[in-house]
Amino acid sequence: MAALEVRNLHKRYGHHVAVDNISFSVEEGEIFGIIGPNGAGKTTTVESIAGLRTPDSGSISVLGLDPVKDRAEVRERLGVQLQESSFPDAIKVAEALELYSSFYRDPADWRELMELLGLAEKHKTRYKALSGGQKQRLSIALALVGNPKVAILDELTTGLDPQARRDTWSLIERVRDTGVTILLVTHFMDEAERLSDRIAVIDGGRVAAVDTPEGLIAQVSPVQQVRFRVSQPL
Ligand code: ATP
Repeated sequence: MAALEVRNLHKRYGHHVAVDNISFSVEEGEIFGIIGPNGAGKTTTVESIAGLRTPDSGSISVLGLDPVKDRAEVRERLGVQLQESSFPDAIKVAEALELYSSFYRDPADWRELMELLGLAEKHKTRYKALSGGQKQRLSIALALVGNPKVAILDELTTGLDPQARRDTWSLIERVRDTGVTILLVTHFMDEAERLSDRIAVIDGGRVAAVDTPEGLIAQVSPVQQVRFRVSQPL
């Protein structure tokens, strides 16, 4: 069974079709990238997987469960790190992790997560005093604190400097090595290429291609390849 399966997903907002018949499946243990321009339908797709939006039609399976009908079970098994997560400025790193772990029946050891994500030295630091990269790492740790089998990581490195991006990439590989299946949403081809086993390119609410990074690069023209390879954070 696939860890994640999206079949013929449709979602419209009024007359605007945001997601138009999207299908893909993610195997257990994979890092599966979703890449596409602004407005492509990435966030609507992942929010539907997370049960935060109800599709107009189509089906979604998270480890065999329906995100809308089986909401509570899916929340236990799916870790979600979405963009623009915000926390009270005064909360300390360890307090945030301890609080979030209390929401789950079978939480991960949050102290081990702090080690894994390089936050141990910052355990007493308040949220407002963290750097951008540290805030991202905390949001990843919080997505993992419920011991999920599958994690969604959305726009992880937007706004980070090149070194912080590379550090974040190494951490994602470490998380994958612990056995978590990862759905990685990104604007950046270099990031998708470096981390993903397979990538879905989404454009205009449709899947334009699904392939390995090498397969995708081979499909595009030499000019597009240059554009892909030099894509950098805005
Ligand atoms: P970005 O990379 O900019 O976050 P995205 O690929 O995640 O974009 P979505 O956020 O899923 O794309 O949006 C897909 C389309 O649906 C866009 O045209 C967007 O303007 C529209 N849209 C998204 N949310 C809503 C909403 N709540 N109401 C109306 N239109 C929406």
